[in-house]
Amino acid sequence: RKSTVIVTGASSGVGLYAAKALAKRGWHVVMACRNLEKAEQAAQDVGIPKDSYTIMHIDLGSLDSVRQFVNNFRASGKSLEALVCNAAIYMPLIKEPLRSPEGYELTMTTNHLGHFLLCNLMLEDLQKSSAADKRLVILGTVTHNPDELGGKIPPRPDLGNLEGFAQGFKPPISMIDGKKFEPVKAYKDSKVCNVLTMRELHRRYHESTGITFTSLYPGCVAETPLFRNHYPLFQKLFPLFQKYITGGYVSQDLAGERVADVVAAPEYKQSGAYWSWGNRQKKDGKSFVQKVSPQARDDEKGDRLWELSEKLVGLA
Ligand code: NDP
Repeated sequence: RKSTVIVTGASSGVGLYAAKALAKRGWHVVMACRNLEKAEQAAQDVGIPKDSYTIMHIDLGSLDSVRQFVNNFRASGKSLEALVCNAAIYMPLIKEPLRSPEGYELTMTTNHLGHFLLCNLMLEDLQKSSAADKRLVILGTVTHNPDELGGKIPPRPDLGNLEGFAQGFKPPISMIDGKKFEPVKAYKDSKVCNVLTMRELHRRYHESTGITFTSLYPGCVAETPLFRNHYPLFQKLFPLFQKYITGGYVSQDLAGERVADVVAAPEYKQSGAYWSWGNRQKKDGKSFVQKVSPQARDDEKGDRLWELSEKLVGLA
C-alpha cells in the first residue's frame, strides 16, 4: 500500500510542485486546500496522475475548518506517514489587519496558528501509522533569519516577549509583539513561529514518538504566486533580482523536489534539522543543516510560544 502525505496549500507554488514530486515517488498525496476547483485544475495542469492524489478542504485561516479537516481525514480511513505544513499568505500592501473568524490577525493565523493546531491534532494520526519512518515538515524561509542577506531587509521579524499573544491576540491587537500592524513583519514573524514550532515538536515529541520533525528553506522560489499581492513591478523584477543579484533563485520544480527529499529521502531523516542548500540554483547543490536565527533557536521563547499558542487555538 502507498504511503500517505498531507500537503497544505498544494494548489500552487511550492506545495503543488512538492505534491507532484511526491506522487512521482510513489506517495499518495492528500492536497489540503481552501479552493477545491483550483486545486483540481492545478493537479491536472502539472500532470499528477489521478489515482495519486485526493483533494480535501482546509482553510487554515479558521480553526474550526482545521478541526473539520482532521475529522474528514480520519473518516477517509487513510493512514498518515507524513505531514507538510506549506500553506501561507503574504499580504505586503494591506493597511489594516484582516481577521480570522476567531478575531485573530489572519497572516499569523494562517501561517502559524492554523498549522500549530493541525500539527498537534495530527500527531495522533502519525503515531497510529505502523510505518518505521514518519515525518512532519514545516516550510521555513530565509526572511526569518537576519544572519542571511535575504533576512536583513527591514522590517525584521521580532516576536518581542509575545505580548500580543499573551493579551489574547484580538482587536485592537494585531501583532505577536503587541505593536503596530505591519503586514510584512507579520509574515516574517509567522515564519519564525514556524521554525520555533518545529523545534518544540522535536524537543517535546521526537524521543517518545520517533517522528522526524524538520524544516527547510528551499531557496527563493520567486515565481510562485506568493508575491501575487505585491506591486506588479515588484513581481517582474523580483525573480531577476534573485537570479542575478542574490543568486538565491530556484525553480518551482526544484523547490518541489527539495521538499520531497526532506519528506522521503533517508539522508534527511534528522529530527530538529533546518535544511538549506549551498548553491541554491544548482540541481545538485548540496544541502546542509543550517543554524536558525537567534530568535528561532531560543528554546525558552519556543516553550512560551507553544503554551500561548495552545491557549489561542483552544488546546489548553
Ligand atoms: P503560494 O502563494 O504559491 O502558495 C501558497 C499556498 O497556500 C496556496 O496553495 C494557497 O492557496 C495556500 N493557502 C493560502 N491561504 C490558505 C488558507 N487559509 N487555507 C489553505 N490554504 C491556503 O506560495 P509559495 O508556494 O511561494 O509558498 C509556500 C510556502 O513556501 C510558504 O510557507 C512560504 O513561506 C514558503 N516559502 C516560499 C518561498 C518563495 O520564495 N516563494 C521561499 C521560502 C519559503 P490558494 O491557491 O487557494 O491561494
